[in-house]
Amino acid sequence: METLLVVGAGPKALAVAAKSHVLRKLGLPAPRVIVVEAHAVGGNWLPSGGWTDGQHRLGTSPEKDVGFPYHSTWARGHNREIDEAMRAFSWSAFLVAHGTYAEWIDRGRPSPQHHVWAKYLQWVGRSIDLELVLGSVKGISAAADGWLVQVADADGGLSEIDCDAVMITGPGRSDRALTAHPKVLSISEFWDLAGRRALPPSSRAAVVGGGETAGSALDELIRHEMLTISVISPKATLYTRGESYFENSLYSDPTKWSALGMEERRDVIRRTDRGVFSVRVQESLLGDNRVHHLQGRVVNIADRDDRVALTLRNDMRADQVHSFDLVVDATGGQPLWFLDLFDSGATDLLELAVGGPLTQDRIENAIGYDLALSGLNAKLYLPNMAALAQGPGFPNLSCLGELSDRVLRSDLAQRGRVARERVSSAR
Ligand SMILES: Cc1cc2nc3c(=O)[nH]c(=O)nc-3n(C[C@H](O)[C@H](O)[C@H](O)COP(=O)(O)OP(=O)(O)OC[C@H]3O[C@@H](n4cnc5c(N)ncnc54)[C@H](O)[C@@H]3O)c2cc1C
Repeated sequence: METLLVVGAGPKALAVAAKSHVLRKLGLPAPRVIVVEAHAVGGNWLPSGGWTDGQHRLGTSPEKDVGFPYHSTWARGHNREIDEAMRAFSWSAFLVAHGTYAEWIDRGRPSPQHHVWAKYLQWVGRSIDLELVLGSVKGISAAADGWLVQVADADGGLSEIDCDAVMITGPGRSDRALTAHPKVLSISEFWDLAGRRALPPSSRAAVVGGGETAGSALDELIRHEMLTISVISPKATLYTRGESYFENSLYSDPTKWSALGMEERRDVIRRTDRGVFSVRVQESLLGDNRVHHLQGRVVNIADRDDRVALTLRNDMRADQVHSFDLVVDATGGQPLWFLDLFDSGATDLLELAVGGPLTQDRIENAIGYDLALSGLNAKLYLPNMAALAQGPGFPNLSCLGELSDRVLRSDLAQRGRVARERVSSAR
């Protein structure tokens, strides 16, 4: 049996592991899925993960769960059975198992808090007997016919896992701030202090960033006593995410995506995903006259009279300096964080595959239908980099069922190829 190692036990890992479990139960070929997780299943949705205090609510509907959209395309003749079997791990099955389904419906299907979403993921993990390795992936090197993954456990002990394919998930670290300054908080410091009700009293606060991470931080800050709260982002205004059927359908069903030109795809992502606030967050900010938007990129940070002075740069305008007594760096994850895991030999292979030094642009353009980097012998699945090439829903929670189909179908195709090669060499 092939082994797929997933870095991080978030929704993507659970979606792929659940689908693989279902396929095997139905007697269909699927890899062994090993998930390596540094904190806990659903760790980034818990306060300890450093991206939330766990109390804020999911932006998307929880019905976009590990099987959504329940429209499997894995293999003709089996898709209906696969969809049926996946429903056992749905959000509604979780509520039924906990006796809260009717209440959730009667309360108008509210979005769950992040820590409840983590509980759902943990329940899926338990239900499928998830093969979980608790530890942090520290390095990845190329092996003869796959990857060698180095894992450090909580005590720092190192072990190696040999696998055929690797899938990377998650946004990377949240503990880095724009600069080391006691009044400039990384997003993990912010949530740690907010969770302990220990945010420093401030009159002028600023949140740098205009996306989901900033949205959650603002949703929290407006509950505290601040005179003003500025949102700093390079765009002309704070955009609300387009959430109508027309936009959402491109996320749930990426089949139309390949028919769009690159500029059209970038336009959809700009309007609906990157650097936009959900309608719910935007509504709570609109009603608060302390919240203002400042346009610009932060290019300098300095101490000024007990405050932090941020220099904001905009094309065609002179730099502006604004000072604050609390700054939260909510610029979000680093899309290429995982490259630090690869040793020099593996990095050479990745560079050969994309045809040059590893830039976000090159990697995004090299993601194939199976959500893996094209041109590598051993599969490296990078769904977080797949928005532009394959569909805007793959990096988030919008089509986890489709994501798992694509990853696992490629494994099937790979095995078909290996089997055909074996047959022809035996002849
Ligand atoms: C505050 C916030 C709210 C969001 N809300 C939504 C939403 O409502 N809807 C939506 O679609 N998207 C939302 N997103 C985007 C969200 O990040 C993705 O949709 C989704 O969580 C990504 O799932 P994932 O499986 O890739 O990773 P994650 O859920 O981020 O899981 C990654 C896991 O990897 C682990 N990990 C990290 N490094 C290592 C390592 N070296 N070794 C081992 N394990 C490691 C982490 O501990 C973590 O558990 C939100 C993001 C943020 C920051």
